[in-house]
Formats: sequence, C-alpha cells, structure tokens
Amino acid sequence: MEGNKINGKTVTESELLALGYRKYYSDDLDVFYNKAICAHVGNCVRGDSNVFEVGRRPWIITSNAASVEQCITVINSCPSGALKWLYHSQGDLIKKEIAMPNFTFEDQGDQIVLINADTQQQAGEIAFMEAEDTLIIVHTGVNPEFRGNGLAEQLVAKVVEKARREDKKIFPICPFAQKEFKAKPEYSDVLRQDV
Ligand code: SF4
Repeated sequence: MEGNKINGKTVTESELLALGYRKYYSDDLDVFYNKAICAHVGNCVRGDSNVFEVGRRPWIITSNAASVEQCITVINSCPSGALKWLYHSQGDLIKKEIAMPNFTFEDQGDQIVLINADTQQQAGEIAFMEAEDTLIIVHTGVNPEFRGNGLAEQLVAKVVEKARREDKKIFPICPFAQKEFKAKPEYSDVLRQDV
C-alpha cells in the first residue's frame, strides 16, 4: 500500500487530520496514524521498533528512523492504511511563527533535559544508561514545535561534554545520536569503539 495515498490519490496533511489521523513530526518525514482503523497486525513494530514501539509515549518517534526510505518502506507495509507518511516539507498547514525562547540544560543523572527558560517547561531530553565508564545514549527527543533549530544536536554535544568532563566513553544506540557521531569526527575521542 502506498502510504502517501488514499484511493490512488496523493493525500494532503489537512485531509489526513480531517480524517482523524494524528501527526508525528520529524525534520524530514511526518508520520500520520489513525488508531480507529489500525488492525493491530504489528507490521510497523516488527519493521522498525525504534520508530514504532507499543507502550512508549509517544509510541511513534519519527526522528528515530535510520533513514527516510526505511521508514517509508515500513509504513507502506501497513495493510490497513492506519499509517501514512508525507515529506515534512509537504505539510500544508500554516505554521504559526513562534519566537524561539532561551533554553538551558539540566543534568539529571540519567538524562540531560532541555528546559524552556521562559516557561521552565521541559522541551526535550537526551537519555542515557551508565555502564561502568560508558554512557549509552538510548533516546534523543525535542518537542515538535522547537525542532529544526539544532537543539537535538546540542543535546548530543552536552553528553559529549559530560563524557569528557567525567572521563567516560559514549556508546550511542539512539539512531539520531549515531548519526551525529558519524557526522562529527571531533567526537571520536569519546566514542566507544571496542564493543
Ligand atoms: S502496521 Fe498498520 S495496522 Fe498494523 S499495527 Fe501498525 S499501524 Fe496498525
């Protein structure tokens, strides 16, 4: 099933939202899900459990996809049509211009939290587990309204700073953090290479 079409016609964001789909953003690809028509067959979870994980909130984290193409392939395997995809740039709803607030970072031991300094609300987080001298990054997330501003990259940078400060290594499991480590050779001094 082509996950960006309904009845053979390319669908739009406003049509999907009017049909009861909920939107899950990422910078590249938006995923839409309609619980009412999900047949609970589980192709999505079996296809990519980093993106689709039952019981997690949110249960779809689009930015966890290893690639846009892979995410589209999984969505196209949904037999019920409960999952749809659109490239993020296709969003046809007018986005409200929001002034970017100031942010601070708070190290809470097992995660570094991004705080909106104007409201004191959590705006994102990078979570990690500690195993001896290694920080295992398991998740990076930024609230949808603040994405596309380099905040997720800053969260990874904060863990790199922490590892250097505490003389630890980093083993990224989170696909976003893996991409950051691939793209930034300057992080190689803290990357755990021997596992
Ligand atoms: S593949 Fe589609 S129908 Fe199956 S569980 Fe996932 S969303 Fe529901």
